[in-house]
Amino acid sequence: MDRVEAARVSRLNLLPAHEPMTVNEGTLVATLSSLRSECELCGAWSTFTGRTETRDGRTCAIVRCPGGHGEFSVWNRDREPLVAAYERARASVRDPEAYQRTLATLTGADGDAIAALIAAPPPELPLFSIEDVAVPAAAARRWCELVLDGAGWCPAPTRSVRVEEALATALHLDSRACVDSIAARVSADEVSGALERLALRFHHRDPGVLAPLLQGSQQAWRGSMSNVRFLRSMAERLCAVASGAEEEIRAALAIPTQPAPLGARGLEITGGVLSRASVELRFSPPALTRAQLDGVFGQGEALPRTGPGAAHVLAYDVRIAGAPASVSVFARFSGLPGPESGANSILLRIDPACAEGEHGGV
Ligand SMILES: [Zn+2]
Repeated sequence: MDRVEAARVSRLNLLPAHEPMTVNEGTLVATLSSLRSECELCGAWSTFTGRTETRDGRTCAIVRCPGGHGEFSVWNRDREPLVAAYERARASVRDPEAYQRTLATLTGADGDAIAALIAAPPPELPLFSIEDVAVPAAAARRWCELVLDGAGWCPAPTRSVRVEEALATALHLDSRACVDSIAARVSADEVSGALERLALRFHHRDPGVLAPLLQGSQQAWRGSMSNVRFLRSMAERLCAVASGAEEEIRAALAIPTQPAPLGARGLEITGGVLSRASVELRFSPPALTRAQLDGVFGQGEALPRTGPGAAHVLAYDVRIAGAPASVSVFARFSGLPGPESGANSILLRIDPACAEGEHGGV
C-alpha cells in the first residue's frame, strides 16, 4: 500500500463510540455509520460504501469522500466486530444486489428516493445513523418508526441502538412528530439511558425538541454530560463569543462560576479582544486525565516547552462552523503527561474563528 493509503488506514475517525463494542449473535451495538472516516485530503466525512477488502489479513471498510476524492480503505481494531457483523449479515441476505442498491440509496443524497424507500421498505436493509441519511422532514416520523420497530434491519440493531437513533432523528430533524411517536413507544428509562451519548453526539446546549420526553428537565440533559464532556460543552458555548467582553463570556458559559464547575479550585474569566479573552480552570489535586481529554477532544498537540522548569502543555482545538470564535484548549501538566496524568489547569482561549490552526503562545 502506498504512503497516502497507509496514512488513511491508520487514521480512522469515528462517531462517539458505543462502548463496549461487542457483537452478539449478529446484533449491532452501533450503526454502520461508525465505519465512516475523515478524508485525509479535505476532511469531509466519508461514508461506508457497503464494500470491504482484505489487506494484510485485515478486513477494511471502503469509504467514499463526498468531495470527489474517491474511495479509500480504513481499518480500526475497535470496529472489527462491527465489520464482522456486517460481513455475516451481507453473506446471509437473500438478495445481495437489492441490499446493495438499498445501501446506496440510503447513503445517497436523494431525499425523494429515501422517502420512497422508507414508505415501502425492502425486506432487508442496512442501518445508518440519521447524520448519514438525508431523510426529508416530512418522512421523519416514518423513519423514526422504522428504526424503532422495523424487522428488516440487517445486521439487526439492539434495542438501545434503535432508541438512540429514533431520538437522534427527532433532534437532527427537530421533529415534534417524531417525539410524539417516540413517547408512545419508548419508556422514560430507555430515553434517559440514551441521553449521555446523544448529548455527546449533538453537542446541543439543551435537549431541544426532546424536552417533553425528559419531563421538562434540562438538568437531566446537562447532568448526563460528565467531566470532560462538560468541559467540551463549555468550550463550544464559548465559540459564540464575539466581543470578548467578560459579561458576554459569562452569558455564553451559562453556568454558575461560584463554586467553580468540575470540582475545580478556581475559575478565572479574562475579558479582552478575541485571542486574549479566556476562561481558566485550576485543579488541586490535578484532574481530567490526558486519556480523557484525548478521548473527547481528539489527540492533543504537545506544545514546545518554554524552558526546563516550564509546564508540559497539550493543545486542542474546538471549532463550530459559522461561529464567531473558536476555542483553543490548553491543558497544563507538571510533568510529561502519560495517559493517566491529571491536568493542573485548563485554559480555554477564545480566538477569532478565522485564525487557522496555529496555537501560538499560551
Ligand atoms: Zn475528500
